[in-house]
Amino acid sequence: MTNTSFSRRTLFKGAGLIATGATASTGFVQPVFAEGNSPFPVRPIANRFKLGSFEVTTFFDGAVQLDGPHPIFGQNVSAADVQKLARENFLPEKRMEIGFTPTLVRAGDNLVLFDAGNGDSTGRRPNAGNLVSIMKHIGISPDDITHVVITHMHPDHIGGLMEGGKPTFKNAAYITNASEFDFWTAKERLSGGTERTAKLVQSNVKPLSEKFSFIKAGDDIVNGITTLEAAGHTPGHMAVHVESEGDRLVLIADATNHHVVSLQRPDWHVRFDMDKQKAAHTRKNLLGMIAADRIPFIGYHMPFPSVGYLEAKGAGFRYEAASYQLGL
Ligand SMILES: [Zn+2]
Repeated sequence: MTNTSFSRRTLFKGAGLIATGATASTGFVQPVFAEGNSPFPVRPIANRFKLGSFEVTTFFDGAVQLDGPHPIFGQNVSAADVQKLARENFLPEKRMEIGFTPTLVRAGDNLVLFDAGNGDSTGRRPNAGNLVSIMKHIGISPDDITHVVITHMHPDHIGGLMEGGKPTFKNAAYITNASEFDFWTAKERLSGGTERTAKLVQSNVKPLSEKFSFIKAGDDIVNGITTLEAAGHTPGHMAVHVESEGDRLVLIADATNHHVVSLQRPDWHVRFDMDKQKAAHTRKNLLGMIAADRIPFIGYHMPFPSVGYLEAKGAGFRYEAASYQLGL
């Protein structure tokens, strides 16, 4: 937190009463609210719901505001096309926000964390890297995490693995796709376009090598949590299927990075996708399954609390943010 522009104290100023008062016996916790060094925005930082006997918590690690969606999104279409779609969906045409949403699943005795947020080691995102502070605030110690699953090794997912050169989640087993690990740890990635990420992999992933186990699509992480094929965004990018007592949920990680543009136009190319065609193919497959099965999903870059549903519509999908469906 030392690199962030607000201290933990200011982050949670005013949040205590809400958080303490809202811990219901149902296990459903109302969102608590973060407050930065400026009065706006004030917004939720954690959201928890039940899935069968599991408990799912999303964390608002932070967000960045930047120019876009075009040309980050819709690289293969005109700026005018992207701006028109933004306008139709009540979004600004030339500015956007991307949030970061690590997710924790309590499955029996296992506390499985999906991605580690930006952390403080990247030092480049003053309004992100809040995962651990929020975790502690709602009563979870990083030492309690039993598994850390890395969906892929982009900086916003591995930045939080280390804190001051030490593992943030010191008692956890680490899990990722072998092809993702092999790709980012190869020497040739340390130069050119992959340099920055590969260096972060050297400092944040490599020291944990001994604690990593490697899986492929279709493998179980723990009982009820299974990986899904989702390559394209990166070579070993994984999605995850969670099921408990017949209730299902998919974590799509970065299969889609924008709740309007990439969902309504899944064929549009995205700068962040390393293999544009494959990523589009994966996106349509995964989103098609979620829409057909009418199950909730969590996207790492969906607007917080990042839980929603999909309806197949035209060439893409309509996003319906979850409201009370998972809290009843
Ligand atoms: Zn990401």
